[in-house]
Amino acid sequence: MSFESLGLMPELLRAVAEEGYTTPSPIQLKAIPPVLARQDIMACAQTGTGKTAGFALPILQMLAPHQNTSPSPARHSIRALILTPTRELAAQVEQSVRTYAKYLSLRTTVVYGGVDINPQIKALREGVEILVATPGRLLDHVQQKTVNLGRVEILVLDEADRMLDMGFMPDIKRIIALLPVERQSLLFSATFSDEIKRLANQLLRSPVSVEVARRNAPADLVTHRMYEIEAPRKRALLTHLIKSREMQQVLVFVRTKRDANRLTRELVRDGVSATAIHSDRSQGERTQALEDFKAGTVNVLVATDIAARGLDIELLPFVINYELPYVAEDYIHRIGRTGRAGSTGEAISLVCADEQRMLDDIERELKRKLERLPLPQFSGGDEPERATHSRSSRHTSGASSSGSSGRRTREPSTSAPHPRPPSAPPPGGFDFSKPYEAKPRATTPEAGHANTAAAHHKRTSRPRAALLGGLAAKKSEA
Ligand code: AMP
Repeated sequence: MSFESLGLMPELLRAVAEEGYTTPSPIQLKAIPPVLARQDIMACAQTGTGKTAGFALPILQMLAPHQNTSPSPARHSIRALILTPTRELAAQVEQSVRTYAKYLSLRTTVVYGGVDINPQIKALREGVEILVATPGRLLDHVQQKTVNLGRVEILVLDEADRMLDMGFMPDIKRIIALLPVERQSLLFSATFSDEIKRLANQLLRSPVSVEVARRNAPADLVTHRMYEIEAPRKRALLTHLIKSREMQQVLVFVRTKRDANRLTRELVRDGVSATAIHSDRSQGERTQALEDFKAGTVNVLVATDIAARGLDIELLPFVINYELPYVAEDYIHRIGRTGRAGSTGEAISLVCADEQRMLDDIERELKRKLERLPLPQFSGGDEPERATHSRSSRHTSGASSSGSSGRRTREPSTSAPHPRPPSAPPPGGFDFSKPYEAKPRATTPEAGHANTAAAHHKRTSRPRAALLGGLAAKKSEA
């Protein structure tokens, strides 16, 4: 099947071809025809499956009759509203729509919180056909009467499950109440919980169900490994792993914003180039953190689950769970950021006794055991001896799993890492030189970030994973 056979107009085919898309992805094959037929759809698809083009291309085609070059705002009413849970996803979706629309005279803009509202007001006043928005900021515009949703023909709820998780349901209901009853609604969600089904029942009319296989079966593509380690020694082990394995790009998960800040500070003190992404950071800081990580000026991105949702990272070799998530499903989300596109990846969990129950849940969810690795020799932490993981230590290790020992490890190997022969696989058995294909970089952000210790690290010419987008949270994190 080709894009031509889906009946897309030449302007869209040209834009898609220029993006290098040769064949439609499964979600595009399944979603584009019913959307073009003006049916509601309920689509189960994750970020990274090509779902954005799955709704954006047919929407653009349906709106093409409205295109015009008139400067009059009255000629540019909002016809399509795309709601996303996070700012970065909103920006990413709008960028995609803009790309696909480049040979059409349709206007698009994006509104999200955390940034100055005035340029958004100006763009809305000038008139747009397609609006991408996060719910909170859209309602701010509604309140200020700077947006009119009375002519919306198509509504998209992107990552609806995330929106519900993040507590946006009341906002979404308020927004839907402002839309014309006669409209087409498209709901995209990575999972279909009962709550999502209830929302779909309220929102959609005789929807076509569209489902594609999960993009990567994490259990198959990712090596799941773990170390049993007392909480106070986790940081020293993390630093040791990053340095001894010369990890160039690693996403490290913690549970809370505080843990993210603290761990980032400690890593930086250890001479590791790290930055943090979580919802207490300003939009500018989050964008900078992602850019630094993407560009390779920072090797480690310390993230909370909510802040990391929606991140689409291609070919990321390592995900480290510094703390296990409370919910086993979040483990799947976390490791879904590696092992993509048929490449392999490695998920490493640092598990202390307090986390036994979470580990049990994860192994049940994965239907497999995480491979227990013997602790390497490393310096630092409260315990001079190798850790032994026992349930009895639950009571003694009591410290927060993000706790630092207070003593910092100094790794002599950092300044002069042992070069690995290019052909020899690294310790994990994964040849990092193979799957990387760096995306062309538009910018080279300067490492001026407070948490960035890029200066400590050698720049590397090793290709990097591409990070396609990201996100952040509006609502509170744990
Ligand atoms: P999405 O799931 O919409 O976030 O898309 C994930 C990535 O896949 C984006 O970088 C898109 O540019 C890319 N993509 C979307 N459709 C195709 C396609 N048919 N062929 C190749 N790449 C695509």
